[in-house]
Amino acid sequence: VKRVYAFGKDAQGNNVTEGNTNMKAILGGKGANLAEMANIGLPVPPGFTITCQTCMEYANAGNTWPEGALDTIREYREDLETRMGKKIGDAEDPLLVSVRSGAPMSMPGMMDTVLNLGLNDQSINGLIKQTENPRFAWDSYRRFIQMFSGVVMGLDGDLFENAITAMKNLRGVASDTDLTAEDLQELVAEFKQIFAENVSAEAYPSLMVDGAMQFPQDPMAQLQLAIEAVFGSWNNPRATLYRKQNKIADDLGTAVNVQSMVFGNKGNTSATGVAFTRNPANGDKEFYGDYLVNAQGEDVVAGIRNTSPIAELKEVAGLEEAGRELEEVFVTLENHFRDMCDIEFTIEQGKLWMLQTRVGKRTAAAALHIAIEMEKEGLISKEEAVMRVDPDQLDQLLHPQFDKDADYDVLARGLNASPGAAVGEAVFSAVDAVEVSEAGRKCVLVRWETNPDDLAGMIAAEGILTSHGGKTSHAAVIARGMGTPCVCGVEALRIDAEKKQAIVMGTDVVINEGDMISIDGTSGIVVLGAVDLVLPELTGDLDTILEWADEFRTLGVRANADNPEDAELSRGFGAAGIGLCRTEHMFLGDRKQIIQTFILNEDEAVREKAVNDLLAAQTGDFLGMFEAMDGLPVIVRLLDPPLHEFLESPRALDVEIAKLEATGGDKATIAEKRKLMEQIDSMSEANPMLGLRGCRLGIVYPILPVMQVRAIATACAELKKRGLDPKPEIMIPLVSVLPELEKLRRVAEEAIAEVAAEQGIELDIPVGTMIELPRAAVTADEIATQADFFSFGTNDLTQTTFGFSRDDVEAEFVPQYLAERLLPYNPFATIDPGVAKLVEMGVELGHKGNPDIVCGVCGEHGGDPDSVKMFHKIGLDYVSCSPYRVPLARLAAGQAAL
Ligand code: ADP
Ligand code: MG
Ligand code: MG
Repeated sequence: VKRVYAFGKDAQGNNVTEGNTNMKAILGGKGANLAEMANIGLPVPPGFTITCQTCMEYANAGNTWPEGALDTIREYREDLETRMGKKIGDAEDPLLVSVRSGAPMSMPGMMDTVLNLGLNDQSINGLIKQTENPRFAWDSYRRFIQMFSGVVMGLDGDLFENAITAMKNLRGVASDTDLTAEDLQELVAEFKQIFAENVSAEAYPSLMVDGAMQFPQDPMAQLQLAIEAVFGSWNNPRATLYRKQNKIADDLGTAVNVQSMVFGNKGNTSATGVAFTRNPANGDKEFYGDYLVNAQGEDVVAGIRNTSPIAELKEVAGLEEAGRELEEVFVTLENHFRDMCDIEFTIEQGKLWMLQTRVGKRTAAAALHIAIEMEKEGLISKEEAVMRVDPDQLDQLLHPQFDKDADYDVLARGLNASPGAAVGEAVFSAVDAVEVSEAGRKCVLVRWETNPDDLAGMIAAEGILTSHGGKTSHAAVIARGMGTPCVCGVEALRIDAEKKQAIVMGTDVVINEGDMISIDGTSGIVVLGAVDLVLPELTGDLDTILEWADEFRTLGVRANADNPEDAELSRGFGAAGIGLCRTEHMFLGDRKQIIQTFILNEDEAVREKAVNDLLAAQTGDFLGMFEAMDGLPVIVRLLDPPLHEFLESPRALDVEIAKLEATGGDKATIAEKRKLMEQIDSMSEANPMLGLRGCRLGIVYPILPVMQVRAIATACAELKKRGLDPKPEIMIPLVSVLPELEKLRRVAEEAIAEVAAEQGIELDIPVGTMIELPRAAVTADEIATQADFFSFGTNDLTQTTFGFSRDDVEAEFVPQYLAERLLPYNPFATIDPGVAKLVEMGVELGHKGNPDIVCGVCGEHGGDPDSVKMFHKIGLDYVSCSPYRVPLARLAAGQAAL
């Protein structure tokens, strides 16, 4: 097996790159694109990449190197030295390298990188000699010790930061850049001391010299330890969490890139930066990013100094040419990758070097805008444009925003780093964010700048607010990826994380932990107090992409809605009908009393009165629904849930009775309550979800379906008389055997005929059934003989196929199944292949029993992009999902057809 791949040029200037962009699984994203950039002639500092597979072999063997791997690395290291004409650790002219992680999937900031490797007490002299810049050399050495100690040895970064601060205080200077070469040399000695005192001799016996722990002076030992640390970072907790969040497999491993160093910190004609070829927040065609003059690598992302916008680069003396070249590179990269790219670059004494590129992450709004513009520019086709937008991301566009009519004062302004608005309690640490969110409250995480250790808190928070860092800082990048609103770089905030408060400069406001704050990541505004949020108007870009998706898709999209407002909303989102109108929601509120009366009363007259009350109320409901969906089908499901859902809980009653007894309550009331409790108790079932519900209700209480069908038919007749075009359909739930459907269909048809006769109007209302029990799916040919349509209720079908209770799925064993990967994903979120097989069988058999049968899906899965793709393959006619997921389903259905 080939374990190492070279990239960049040799000493003669020939490209000796062995990899390319299609090798991400082997070289990781960073390595594959470093190779690709070298191949298309961009300036890439030479180096080599150790494969992801080597990382996994090393990890799986309990952190032991595969046979021969170290030898190959040595060969490539020697080859790199030849190519560069310098040797690592050389006392005259040392080669310095970076050791960079790079997984197949981008995991920004999750794993580790070491810069300036190869410095030791000898090579420092060579670096001083070559650069004639002792200050730069000592600064590089102290950065190296600091990074190596943190990344490779896991020492606390504060140990070193404190030493720097102490030195600055001692010298009476404010900034790192005011420290002299001598100061830095002294710091290097101190850093080595800190290293020796804090690294455990037991863990690293090889670093003992003459009985004392020593910072490794052998560059080869440095290199090996650093590579091993990068391999190890694949399994660090924050990387593991990130993979779980982003559904990235654990067995990919990370590649390691060993690359010759270039220096952005060699004075005022040197710089480093990160950039996007277009604006990743809104998609505008403009160069976007930040840079810092005289700085190295992580300084930009770490938000330690405030950066300048990339557009200004070519106006800086000494950087003009590199700035212009960079803009050419932007164009080259876009034309080559045919997509928006993000890049990391460094300018060393006026010369531009490319350190990284990849297809850039972007907000949903930007994804839409870029796809449409690139199609117009002729860079990509319409099909590609549709494929470019991640359906899951569309959710972001439906994010709340500040109500335009809301009255609020802007407390402070920062950068609009990730769109959408958030309201919550201010919290000042990731731990507190998790705690508040677990307590069921909303919070906004307020930090100086976030780092990868904050990830759990960033996930828990509604929004993220930082005082430092640009639009490419950690907080901004991660927040955009998660679709969480973020305002960053709010310079007016003086955050004291210890005291859990932030002072707002220029005001007398202090934000304390628990104070409500609001942020708007679309405009960069921070407000004290809770601002009312509203949902945004959809942009024209979304409409365009969805219309393009509609041109390709064959799968219909309907909505699940049970009130006229939701029906209208989904119609606006492009739903072609209502696939599921649940009637149980119409029995809540004041109507609960009526249905309780019906259930609990033996007296026929009282019951009939209750049913008539329900009939009147239901007729009103359906009038509203059918009118809102005029001309489009509305599938009304007859009452489905177990009746106990409409009754009081016997346990609560028991407590109430006990209280009344203890306080000497009225005897008659107590007796009444007790009777009620006994009655409810007698109706309780051990497994209500497998009990008296669905069509079984209609068989036990035939008056219920008669009432509901009459309400539907009456509303339909009335609208027809008004000249509208209502299209209700009646759906019978939870059928398992044909006779159930036969019986209820007859009941429905009789009721429809009665109403038609009464109203003197022709009514043609189809009757169909849900397929949500395995028995129905496997006998669908029989059932279809009595059904005009099938709707696959994949929630119940998943529950009954697996025998997993869907109501307990989050709490019980399923999370462990997911953690141990006994299940690849939650089958209630994305359709399981086994359940999909039943759906497929149902569709096929259904068409045998009734060639004209219309088949749809109305479970939660109808709004899940992966499931939508599966349903397209199975050949369903439509999916039905909640209104807000209709746009997403349209897009996913379009993509499925491509
Ligand atoms: P990440 O994956 O976290 O972005 P990188 O490996 O890209 O980590 O390294 C972070 C930064 O370190 C880079 O953006 C770059 O500025 C700097 N860096 C890495 N390698 C080199 C190098 N060979 N020369 C100069 N700077 C480098
Ligand atoms: Mg990087
Ligand atoms: Mg169901």
